[in-house]
Amino acid sequence: MARDLVQIVSSHTQPPSEDAEVARSIAEIALENRNAPHRLLDIVLKIQDRYGFISDEAILAVARVLGMRSVEVEDMVSFYSFLNRRPKGRCGIRLSRTPISLMKGALEVAEAFVKATGVSFGGDSPDGKFTLEWCSDIGVADQEPAALINGAVYTRLTPGRVPVILAALQKGPPFATSSDSKQDTRPEAEVKSNILQRGPVLLRQDAIVGEGIRAALRLTPDAVIQEIEKARLRGRGGAGFLTALKWKFCREAIGEQRYVVCNADEGEPGTFKDRVLLTEYSDLVFDGMTVAAYALGAGQGLLYLRGEYTYLWRPLQDVLKHRRERGLLGADICGRAGFDFDIRIQLGAGAYVCGEETALLESAEGKRGVPRERPPFPTERGYLGQPTVVNNVETLACAARIMEYGAGWFAGHGTPESTGTKLLSISGDCTHPGVYEVPMGISIREILEMVSVHDAQFVQVGGPSGQALAAKDYGRRIAFGDLPTCGTVMIFGPDRDVIETALQFTEFFVDESCGWCVPCRVGTTLLKKELEKILANRATPKDIVALDALANTVMRMSRCGLGQTAANPILTTMQNFPHVYQARVQKENLIDLLRLQGRQHMPGKAKP
Ligand code: SF4
Repeated sequence: MARDLVQIVSSHTQPPSEDAEVARSIAEIALENRNAPHRLLDIVLKIQDRYGFISDEAILAVARVLGMRSVEVEDMVSFYSFLNRRPKGRCGIRLSRTPISLMKGALEVAEAFVKATGVSFGGDSPDGKFTLEWCSDIGVADQEPAALINGAVYTRLTPGRVPVILAALQKGPPFATSSDSKQDTRPEAEVKSNILQRGPVLLRQDAIVGEGIRAALRLTPDAVIQEIEKARLRGRGGAGFLTALKWKFCREAIGEQRYVVCNADEGEPGTFKDRVLLTEYSDLVFDGMTVAAYALGAGQGLLYLRGEYTYLWRPLQDVLKHRRERGLLGADICGRAGFDFDIRIQLGAGAYVCGEETALLESAEGKRGVPRERPPFPTERGYLGQPTVVNNVETLACAARIMEYGAGWFAGHGTPESTGTKLLSISGDCTHPGVYEVPMGISIREILEMVSVHDAQFVQVGGPSGQALAAKDYGRRIAFGDLPTCGTVMIFGPDRDVIETALQFTEFFVDESCGWCVPCRVGTTLLKKELEKILANRATPKDIVALDALANTVMRMSRCGLGQTAANPILTTMQNFPHVYQARVQKENLIDLLRLQGRQHMPGKAKP
């Protein structure tokens, strides 16, 4: 096989010895991944780590060694924003561009990067030193402005820090690749956990590692599922599906293997609580995965870690290693003969849509992260066509706690229909952004009091795909019957421009649409154009009505949760701030016009 690769690569322009070396190296990488097509994402990530980009020669070589068509490999590579098809600067800078980073000064920081590197955004420096790019969100809304530099996160950036950082990068063991950044050799960790309120369930500090598993092993697998059912645990990713039901469906499904997948692809801008769980409580998350494995009869687990969290890869691998040494993973876990389970970390490569569970599975199988048709649901045919449970990081952590302390104890927190606590990622116009554990059922007003905010113009709950709430809604509650959410709370003060913010969220969806279906691919672009027209004071009331109709069409006709919720920033701001839109349009009374239309804005549901 390696000889084939040598032949392919040596027909190109590089000197033969170098070509042969590349071919050997790619063959090695493929072999490390068992030459398995479903490990394609790992293979190309490794190639990029080694060579900085994925060349035509590499595409051909990978296709040959995996027995695929080169167009299939190319198609997959082109899907992910973190995979480069051309050489980029040795120092790759991706500056986060979200409403929160912009409110915290990202544009000034961007200017400083441009000045210090001589490169404009989207470009490379002629000397091959720098590439400057924007990126959607890197999971640190509590410490913006922030950038990923060769995979390492730099937070709380200021224009003054930019030349200092670049100078240090050019001195030290600089221009590290993202695989180097997995080792986090920087003198100080930039990302703070910012846990500002610990509740009694998830962020308590007295728990014992592995206790949830040991408690589960005292029960039968069916009894474990019953305990989760009694706790009335529901998914923490936003959709709120009953966890026990998911586990039951998977356990009952026919398959040769069962899989537990932890969805750690928290790409919703403004969300960072899973980052904190994975940093501070990874054992609890792995306990939860192992409990799920016992309940389902699964032998293999997968933690799908978003590419923006590559810096967590090394510490998480260390935790897994330690767990294997302690008998909490591997064969005969906790001394239970025949209970064999292990966990592999699958890195993503910068695609928000992969947070949708079927897109995540496609990605984990080495394909483009395009959502699948459902049914069949993953519990029936998931990873590699086998019964699979995909749970959010926080859901799995809750499952471990339920085993540890009991269903009754868990259900004693929160409300009868929304039990337990919720981790909130709070950011924006507040003095203390960070992670707060609160009881389910807490109102928006109570949240604002908790963070000492008294002048919020609006609160965006659930990220861009959630809802923009005005003061009249602050009595609403974080609960599955009212505001189901992944826990994102972005606060916007009185001076923020409502429509500008809606535009920024819409741009996010334009960038992140996977492009599979027209209503989402084209519709989000049209929504963006309409908002730009309104902001330029060129819109008439008829444009607003057209915008409303278009937003509803995108919501109804899109194939997956991304498109179905992409219009939410527009629909909810039109509903709650009609006067803001009215002030931007020419002539006629918009409110009357909207009333005449009799439209009811019903925001789409959160992404599963
Ligand atoms: Fe892709 Fe958007 Fe369609 Fe979802 S709705 S499948 S993200 S194009």
